[in-house]
Amino acid sequence: MVLQDLGRRINAAVSDLTRSSNLDEKAFDGMIKEICSALLEADVNVRLVGVLRKSIKSSVNFKELAPNVNKKRLIQKAVFDELVKLVDPHPHTKPFNPKKGKPSVIMMVGLQGAGKTTTCTKLARHYQSRGFKACLVCADTFRAGAFDQLKQNATKAKIPYYGSLTQTDPAVVAKEGVEKFKKEKFEIIIVDTSGRHRQEDALFQEMVDIQTAVKPDQTIMVLDASIGQQAEAQSKAFYDTAAFGAIIITKTDGHASGGGAISAVAATGTPIVFIGTGEHILDLERFAPEKFVQKLLGMGDIQGLVEHVQSLKLDQKDTMKHIAEGVFTVRDLRDQLSNIMKMGPLSKMAGMIPGMSGMMQGMDDEEGSIKLKRMIYMCDSMTAKELDSDGKIFTEQPTRMTRIAGGSGTSVREVEDLLTQHKMMAGMAKKMGGNMKNIQRAQGAMGG
Ligand code: GDP
Repeated sequence: MVLQDLGRRINAAVSDLTRSSNLDEKAFDGMIKEICSALLEADVNVRLVGVLRKSIKSSVNFKELAPNVNKKRLIQKAVFDELVKLVDPHPHTKPFNPKKGKPSVIMMVGLQGAGKTTTCTKLARHYQSRGFKACLVCADTFRAGAFDQLKQNATKAKIPYYGSLTQTDPAVVAKEGVEKFKKEKFEIIIVDTSGRHRQEDALFQEMVDIQTAVKPDQTIMVLDASIGQQAEAQSKAFYDTAAFGAIIITKTDGHASGGGAISAVAATGTPIVFIGTGEHILDLERFAPEKFVQKLLGMGDIQGLVEHVQSLKLDQKDTMKHIAEGVFTVRDLRDQLSNIMKMGPLSKMAGMIPGMSGMMQGMDDEEGSIKLKRMIYMCDSMTAKELDSDGKIFTEQPTRMTRIAGGSGTSVREVEDLLTQHKMMAGMAKKMGGNMKNIQRAQGAMGG
């Protein structure tokens, strides 16, 4: 079960209940039970699931509900809020905030295979795209090939790097690299340290030595989501040695146990700064509990998408504003399609756009790209009036579809399909706009 399946299961439990004509306490208990077993299967700690069960239950008291209260809304909100609480670390420390014009050293620690080297490059790219001068230092002298891997990743992403093939003391390499880049006025200096199979004393001693040598402004632990609730014990062992400040959880794309890992770390109060969502360099998302739950429940992650698009410096026009207002024109669809083509693997982007993942289901990235290109050609054969419409213009005057098919080298059937997709996405946007307003309203009402 991957994380999206967990979301779908929770969503289905809530929708089944809110759609049923018999919304009583027994059905409500059934929904809670289903949500809890889905979370347990995703390796969320039993105690945390118990807390969530009690909180959802007590937030809707059937006996004392006034007759005019909207039970559906109340239940949806209770589930949403409790899921957010489950993954919210409420960090004790302030988030790390690098400043332009000043060097910040970030040291990455973690076990071998957790995704540390990959995450170092993703993080450097993240800061680079936000205008920081970022670079990488490879202080992993333990694993043969570690420097090569970092070199390859860094070269692909055009990020300067430092490492040594001859120096065997990682603390010395780390210090040399950091000093060199500080002199060259780099602002984000990321130090990759070695990981080993298990938590070994030697590894821990090495971490302390590197930490002493480079005095990092932030130490980040990289954890693999597939370890589930073991994340708590693992992060504690590292904390006792390295006193790290934050965590990045990788591979949340492949495992439902990401839910277990995130909630386990959240329970320790250690900030989760990012999550890894795939192997591509762009697959790094800032972790925000509410947005994470929104995406988990298929509500899309509009803000994440906006951030992502801004970092790519793409032209986003008014689409996001439109979606927040519950509007989605044919032109919005066209803009999104062409942006998606530039953004990286399609499968990753799909989850961020409401209604999009269903559209790409069963296709690999190449088939998806061909389909997208044809859709863009069709949009490009439309007039401005058609593009800025809500799509009804085509059902009122179907000859427009024939003209577009002819102009774009596609079939009328494909144009019809495109318009069906648009209609569905417009419907989702309308709901999303409503949902966003509801969430904002609910938060406002709670003073959140
Ligand atoms: P290290 O030993 O901790 O430095 O781990 P690597 O950076 O070499 O990563 C180990 C493997 O995990 C590689 O195949 C990466 O592509 C993969 N990986 C890293 N992060 C993610 C992620 O967020 N999602 C997925 N699916 N794979 C990842």
